[in-house]
Amino acid sequence: MADITYKSKINKIRTFALSLIFIGFGIMYVGLLFKKIEWLMLIFIILGMIAIVFSTVVYFWIGMLSTRAVPIICPSCEKPTKMLGRVDACMHCKQTLTLDKSLEGKEFDESYNSKKQNK
Ligand SMILES: [Zn+2]
Repeated sequence: MADITYKSKINKIRTFALSLIFIGFGIMYVGLLFKKIEWLMLIFIILGMIAIVFSTVVYFWIGMLSTRAVPIICPSCEKPTKMLGRVDACMHCKQTLTLDKSLEGKEFDESYNSKKQNK
């Protein structure tokens, strides 16, 4: 994992879906620059639409994941959050969370530390 900052998985996927929408519009905009070459413009617009449709799919996927996520109260900021899998981060304060005591501080220890140092 090359991630430097560790974010809540749900937030991460949400950011990904949101950026897909922007990428989609970006691609369509590029397509408009090729107005004179009709087939090229069409390809860009279709690609852009695919990206936007895909982001909608990702949004649905987040919805499904959310129902499977375990709701917990964050021990650090005491707000309710949801976690996916055995390890995740709090949506509010990015406190790392784990359901498995043996994994505590292991899986994303490095990224978590480097993030603290950056601040
Ligand atoms: Zn928290």
